[in-house]
Amino acid sequence: MTVAIPCATGPADLWFSDVADEIDRARALCVDCPMRRECLRGALERAETCGVWGGELFLAGLPVPSPKRNGRPPKNAAVLDAQLQVQMRHRIDAVLMSV
Ligand code: SF4
Repeated sequence: MTVAIPCATGPADLWFSDVADEIDRARALCVDCPMRRECLRGALERAETCGVWGGELFLAGLPVPSPKRNGRPPKNAAVLDAQLQVQMRHRIDAVLMSV
C-alpha cells in the first residue's frame, strides 16, 4: 500500500506561498501526513529558511506562529505574539513526541 504525502502529490507552490490562506491550507494538509514528525524535526535541525514543514511555517531559520500580516499591528500585538509563540511551542512539542 502506498501512503500519500500531501506535498508530493499536491501543488508544491502551496508549501512555499506568501499568501496567508495558502499557508494555512498547506499547514492543514500536513496534519495527516505520515512524515510529519520527521519532516518537522528535519526542518528544525536544518533551520529551514522558508516554507511550511511538518505543519509549521518557517522564516529565517525558525518556526513562526503566523506570516506577517499587512496593516497596523493591534495595540496588544506583543501579548498576542507571546501567546501564539507558546501555542506553537506546545504544538511542536506534541508533534515531536508523538509516536
Ligand atoms: S509534513 Fe512535511 S512531508 Fe508531509 S506534507 Fe507537510 S511538508 Fe510535506
